[in-house]
Amino acid sequence: MEGYEYQKRQVALDKNREFRIGEGKISGYASIFLGALSLLAVLAYLFPSHLTTTELRQVYDAGSLQKILKYGMYFSLFFGALTFYLRKYRRMGLAGIVLTATAFLLGGYTVPVDPVEAKRLSLGVDWLILAFLGSVIVFVSLEKLFPKYENQVILRKEWGLDLFYFCFNHLAISAILIYANYHVTHFDWAVSAEVQALIGSVPIALQLVVVILCADFVLYWEHRIFHETQYLWPVHAVHHSVQNMDWLAGSRSHFIQTFSERAMVMVPLYLLGVGETVLNLYVAFAALQAVLIHCNVGLPFGPLKYIFVTPQFHHWHHSSEKPAIDTNYSAHTILFDWLFNTMHFPREHWPAKYGTTGKFPQSYLGQTLYPITALLKKL
Ligand SMILES: [Zn+2]
Ligand SMILES: [Zn+2]
Repeated sequence: MEGYEYQKRQVALDKNREFRIGEGKISGYASIFLGALSLLAVLAYLFPSHLTTTELRQVYDAGSLQKILKYGMYFSLFFGALTFYLRKYRRMGLAGIVLTATAFLLGGYTVPVDPVEAKRLSLGVDWLILAFLGSVIVFVSLEKLFPKYENQVILRKEWGLDLFYFCFNHLAISAILIYANYHVTHFDWAVSAEVQALIGSVPIALQLVVVILCADFVLYWEHRIFHETQYLWPVHAVHHSVQNMDWLAGSRSHFIQTFSERAMVMVPLYLLGVGETVLNLYVAFAALQAVLIHCNVGLPFGPLKYIFVTPQFHHWHHSSEKPAIDTNYSAHTILFDWLFNTMHFPREHWPAKYGTTGKFPQSYLGQTLYPITALLKKL
């Protein structure tokens, strides 16, 4: 935007939240997280029809995952003992050991894996564990190797709140899928056998491109409507209330938004009628990109940034600076923002400020009720 003075974002190092090697804080958190995940995993092995996801079970082998669980449990104990030895964060070490000991008492990594009776509605504990481990390994590593803001700590302000959103979004996966599958039945009238046959006749790579573009078109408009409709904005504002961008920030989303987004994106997938391979490729691409674009990652991405939505592009969407308000709605490619003239992408600059322009509640309940409280204030 001409005449706008871009500023550099300043991030001060928060010494109280920083991880320093040798203090015991890193091993303490590692022990607690591995202990909690192990306990959840053992519970999922004990009650698979209630705590695992039917669609996801077809993709992984529960037997081999027990080997990973075994390592997770022993590493939790090891980190717990190390934390004890380093003294300062003993309570965290103890908590990690207690969690893992409970997992051992419940059967540990030796719970027999039997055929599972599929339930329509279940909690996606397996999805939560796999996504959490995968995200930490891939995205936290990327953030440490190529940080945009080196001073930004992993346990930044409000990380606990966003972890809560992360857990909710993953645990609710089967409810979301049930809703999305019900929602698409309203579009039965638009199904065309000719279109589906045509899509099925082209190479997989081209099918994937078509799926990405169609999904992007729907997500662009869904997103834009949430921004530009007075009564819907408070729902979406929850996603915009994060003030520090990282791998966890994108999880913050009002549940109405989460359900709406997944249900809407299901429509083009359903109408195109693509096969399982393309569908799985798209879901993996979309899930990884959704996390990546929120990451504290300063990678330049070269010519890819002129095609795909990258962290810099989506960080501008989260900026509270005037020229960036209500811009960059796209989820996958930058095409529709360019086409519909809603793009704000100064190549040399990154935002100086993130978040909403006004004050925003900082608790889960406050944010969930925000659409109602914002409405009441207007009356
Ligand atoms: Zn938005
Ligand atoms: Zn976002």
